[in-house]
Amino acid sequence: MPTNGALTIGTATAEPGQRAHGIIEYGVDGFGAPLGVPITIVNGAEDGPVLWVDGAIHGDEPEGPLAIVKVLSALDPGELKGAFVGCMAMNPSAFASNERGNAWDKNTYDMNRIYPGRASGFPTERIAHAHAEALVAAADIEMTIHSGGDHSYLSMAIFHAGGESERLAKAMGPGWDLLLTGGPGGKSPMTTMGEAGKAGITVELGGMCATLPHDFHRVGDTLAESIFNVMRVYDMQPGEAGSCERWFHGVQELVSAPVGGLWVTERDVQMRTPMREGDTIARIYDLFGNEAAVVSAPCDGQIFGLRTNPTVHPGDWCCFYARITGESS
Ligand SMILES: [Zn+2]
Repeated sequence: MPTNGALTIGTATAEPGQRAHGIIEYGVDGFGAPLGVPITIVNGAEDGPVLWVDGAIHGDEPEGPLAIVKVLSALDPGELKGAFVGCMAMNPSAFASNERGNAWDKNTYDMNRIYPGRASGFPTERIAHAHAEALVAAADIEMTIHSGGDHSYLSMAIFHAGGESERLAKAMGPGWDLLLTGGPGGKSPMTTMGEAGKAGITVELGGMCATLPHDFHRVGDTLAESIFNVMRVYDMQPGEAGSCERWFHGVQELVSAPVGGLWVTERDVQMRTPMREGDTIARIYDLFGNEAAVVSAPCDGQIFGLRTNPTVHPGDWCCFYARITGESS
C-alpha cells in the first residue's frame, strides 16, 4: 500500500517526511490505563512500500528490538520512499519479563503458535489480534526477527512462504544464503501476511549467549544492514543492494533430546558446515557421569543453530538442523 500522505497505525500518525510513535491498543489494565503494542513510524518524504519490522514476538529475543533501534537512528525520512514501521516488542509483557511468552497466560503462552489470535480470545491471542489487524492493513512487506533466545544460538537463516515471501528473503543480502520452508508453528506473522497476499519472512540470528558488547552489536549491525538492503531492493532507499551469489534451500529437521541430563556438543561441530546422516552432534550425560545418549545428524544437511543451555529434559529442542533440498543463484 503506497503511503499517499499521512500514515496512521494505532495512536500514531506520521505525516510524509516525519516520525511518530504510539501504541496499538489491545485492552485496559486494572487501573483503567490502556495496554498496547509499541509502534514507531518513519514516513518517507516520497511514496513507496511500507516495510514493517517486528521484534520480540518471543520476549527473550532482544535482537529484533536492537536492530530496530539501529535502523531508527540511521534512517533519514527525507531519503525514504514509502515508510518504515518498527514494532520493537510485539509481546511487550513477555519482553518485560525476559520470557519466551506470557507466563500468566496459561492457554496461549507462545504468540508465535497462535498468531493472528482472536479478538475475544485468551490474553496473548488478543494482543496478537490487535497487532495483526494493524499489520495487514498497513504493511506491504514484513519481517519478524527471532533468535535462539535463552536456550540456543542461531546463525543466519530465513524461513519463507514461497512466492513474494521468497523474493523478500533473497533481498536480505550477503550472508543470508540459507532459505527454509516449514518449521514448527505455522501460525506466525509470515503466514498471516501470506494469507493476505503479502510478503512476510521469519529471520533468525543470535541468542542470549551473544549479548556481550561485541557480539550484540555484531548481530544488531548485521540485522540493521540487512533491513537497509531490503529497502534498497524495494527502491525505498538510494544505493546499490547487495546479494548472495547463491542460496541453499531446505527444510528444518527437529533434533530434540532423547533423555535428560547434561548436553555437551562435540568439540569440532561447526554450524553451516555439511554433515552426513549419523555424524555425532552431541552427547548427553546422566547425573552419575555416564554417557546416556548420543545425538546424531538425522540426515545429510547442516546445523544452523545449537543449544547453549547445557541442561536438557527429554524433548528439549537441542539442534536446529537443515535438510538441504536444492540450490539457486
Ligand atoms: Zn523466536
